[in-house]
Amino acid sequence: MLLDKLIVDIKQLYPAVTLQKSNVYGYDSDNKIIFYKRGSNELLTVISILHELGHHVVHTSNHNYEVSTPTEMQCKIIEIEVMAWVYGRSMLNQFQLNTPEIDRYYTTVQAKFINSYIKALQNKKCVKSIYLSYDN
Ligand SMILES: [Zn+2]
Repeated sequence: MLLDKLIVDIKQLYPAVTLQKSNVYGYDSDNKIIFYKRGSNELLTVISILHELGHHVVHTSNHNYEVSTPTEMQCKIIEIEVMAWVYGRSMLNQFQLNTPEIDRYYTTVQAKFINSYIKALQNKKCVKSIYLSYDN
């Protein structure tokens, strides 16, 4: 129910974006396709789609992608992930999904992912910039 409504709303608000069922989540920025899987947890699917839509917003904003070292590259990738979570969350209002329950669940999922990115970091220098983009 929630998911079907979200798909209809995305088509209306973001006509350039195509949603495609897949066995993975992802965003193809060249073709503006959001890949999603219909799992048993509908709310998790909704939240994951919002994150992928967040990638679309980051990609179409004039974000600076310039990096000069592999470390900066690693930091940039994670920074973009964090921004996609932040943008995705700001869309809860846009899609009338801003109930305390959904907001709380989004926060939990977002924190889980962001913590996993930070844990995976070999170089801890970008942790500070991650938290800066997280606070926005
Ligand atoms: Zn992502």
